[in-house]
Amino acid sequence: MDKKARIFVTGHRGMVGSALLRRLQAGGYTNLITAGRDTLELLDQAAVAAFLVEHRPDYIFIAAAKVGGIQANNVYRADFLYQNLMIEANLIHGAHAAGVQRLMFLGSSCIYPRDCPQPIREDYLLTGPLEPTNEPYAIAKIAGIKLCEAYNAQYGRQYVSVMPTNLYGPNDNYDLANSHVLPALIRKAHEAKLRGDAEYVVWGSGTPRREFLYVDDLADACVHLMEQGYDGPLVNIGTGEDVTIRELAETVMQVVGFQGRIVYDSSKPDGTPRKLLDVNRLAALGWSAKTKLRDGIRFAHQDWLARS
Ligand code: GDP
Repeated sequence: MDKKARIFVTGHRGMVGSALLRRLQAGGYTNLITAGRDTLELLDQAAVAAFLVEHRPDYIFIAAAKVGGIQANNVYRADFLYQNLMIEANLIHGAHAAGVQRLMFLGSSCIYPRDCPQPIREDYLLTGPLEPTNEPYAIAKIAGIKLCEAYNAQYGRQYVSVMPTNLYGPNDNYDLANSHVLPALIRKAHEAKLRGDAEYVVWGSGTPRREFLYVDDLADACVHLMEQGYDGPLVNIGTGEDVTIRELAETVMQVVGFQGRIVYDSSKPDGTPRKLLDVNRLAALGWSAKTKLRDGIRFAHQDWLARS
């Protein structure tokens, strides 16, 4: 990637897009294109098409998406399916129509079948039924992957899909009803400490296992692949290690300094029992995660303190 290349980062105000911008700026890229929702509505096909023709990026990172935790995915099922389908169809087709040769589409590890063998290899895609709580989001993201593959096959484009595991870090969503587990636990433990509570509530049974990647590591992996000119099939991006929600809740308590106890709310869903990515393809491409979970939680907690 030339340092003067025109690079469009969609979703640049979100956790992933803002991390990509930080990484690209730190890497000396000077020609970065962004568009907030006030200037470009990604659900509007004509607006997206016109924007891409006008700006003609050399590269696009699709970090824009309708995202949320287990409850948001489960409740706003139509919004997650419709908005993600539209955003990616508008951007991927619009990119092709505007002559954009290189694009990176970011998906999620929830695209894989609920009960597939662990760790999850890329070729397990579409080998079994999905986890029901996030099926709409997963179906949209699978469609995005297939759209990229189809433009590559039919038109010789180089549209690459990457599948990050559960992410966390600066600019995360800390809204308790809609967030993912890690920001929710940081906030709950922190507020419980401030109030002097004896306990804090963790959803589900505490037994599901999840893998967590610090978002700056994700951004580094994405830029690494683009810089290499990677042009192959989809790539998982994770750490290769997972923890139980109980272990996660305990680590969060220690980092935040809350000394009460954990209470499990079994009225909330557990979701997928385990979701650990196989990261051998990524390792073979010369990248591995750097941030340890405890350090990342500390950085995320500091970010939450600075913003709250
Ligand atoms: P998932 O990975 O798609 O299931 O999404 P989440 O990050 O929202 O949830 C991961 C796991 O953490 C699930 O088993 C949740 O039940 C559990 N969990 C425990 N406490 C919380 C919480 O306060 N918020 C969220 N979102 N999940 C929680």
